[in-house]
Amino acid sequence: MSKQKRFLLNEDELPRQWYNIQADMINKPLPLLNPATREPLTAEDLSHIFANECAKQELDTEHAWIDIPEEVLRRYSYYRSTPLVRAYALEEALGTPAHIYFKNESVNPLGSHKLNSAIPQCYYCKQEGVKNVTTETGAGQWGAALSYAAKSFGLECAVYQVKISMLQKPYRSSIMRTFGATVTGSPSMSTRAGKDIITADPNHPGSLGTAISEAVELATTTPDCKYTLGSVMNHVSLHQSVIGLEAEKQMKMAGEYPDMIIACFGGGSNFGGLAFPFMRHQLKGEGKKIDFIAAEPESCPKLTKGKFEYDFGDTAGYTPLLPMYTLGHEFKPANIHAGGLRYHGAGTIVSQLLKDGYLRGVDIPQLESFDAGLLFARTEGIIPAPESCHAIAATIREAKKCKETGEEKVILFNLSGHGLIDMTAYDSFLNGDLV
Ligand SMILES: *Cc1c(COP(=O)(O)O)cnc(C)c1O
Repeated sequence: MSKQKRFLLNEDELPRQWYNIQADMINKPLPLLNPATREPLTAEDLSHIFANECAKQELDTEHAWIDIPEEVLRRYSYYRSTPLVRAYALEEALGTPAHIYFKNESVNPLGSHKLNSAIPQCYYCKQEGVKNVTTETGAGQWGAALSYAAKSFGLECAVYQVKISMLQKPYRSSIMRTFGATVTGSPSMSTRAGKDIITADPNHPGSLGTAISEAVELATTTPDCKYTLGSVMNHVSLHQSVIGLEAEKQMKMAGEYPDMIIACFGGGSNFGGLAFPFMRHQLKGEGKKIDFIAAEPESCPKLTKGKFEYDFGDTAGYTPLLPMYTLGHEFKPANIHAGGLRYHGAGTIVSQLLKDGYLRGVDIPQLESFDAGLLFARTEGIIPAPESCHAIAATIREAKKCKETGEEKVILFNLSGHGLIDMTAYDSFLNGDLV
């Protein structure tokens, strides 16, 4: 067998369509509900908040393949394909017979998979005559990707960043401001939702839920302004499907097919992006069975300990009611460094698929995640984002099981981002200050 380490696609092999798993799901996700009337939301209702095209994609349960606009394709080609890499050095350090591959989504200039959805969301806003976009961000990867994409399409951008993450990772605010965005720590006194949250709890560290409330409020009270979201929603997983579609071709180049697919889990976009194109075969009852694993932090375990029910996507209750696994919209996640995973709910597609047994969740303690990240950094030479460390930890668990059983399983995981702006987190870990 060849010892090739990296697999890349030529520009003419890049996917030209996104994959919409909703079309192939046997049980479709339950409808999003208007919180006031409890009636299913229409694309029109959603388009008050989101770009029209994103609202349409959100509710599309019919078309499995959706054309990627030419302009978006052109911008994808600046940094895609991303490499599929065989982690020989990690395998060797673990002494495992498993074959470990990772899809490296950290190699675009913004450092995470988030750019894959920031580009099309800003593209559609621009097409539809929108002037301003607003959003929330946790650790700041989404905010950074959106700030850049907005600027490149000539849109103004306002970002609410979770207060605790802003303090933990000050350089992410600098990055967003460098791209021209206005950045406000959430909860803030600049919105009604923020004021209410601060009045109830003056020391609230902020969460993605509080920041979403503030951004949605800004979008609905500002003319020509749309809200954008970096995770959770169906249209975001749709845009992220380029990851899995490329990986499918690249695994073929490597002459292998995954037995397991692993990704960390915040709202489900990097998991869905990698997993859904492979899962489509399973939904049709074809191909080899794959064990799909979503790795979440032990301190925010909505997949393994949450309830499947209708809940809000934000703290103040401004969003539609979403049918999902949730810890409750008032859940306050611990101040772990994996800011992108500090979210109370799971996307509606993943929630339905989990309910139907197509994937499983695993919970990773923070220290185990950093142990895994350190081993990966020291073997493969890439410092992973604290979020991605959860996927690496789950991969290492499985690779160690293979060592015990002697099974040569093929494991594919998503390296959703790099951790070069998260070095304070690594410092705390190396100093022994993390719990
Ligand atoms: C945002 C983010 C996540 C978590 O979000 P998902 O939608 O679950 O993918 C994971 N890793 C990185 C690097 C992120 O930026």
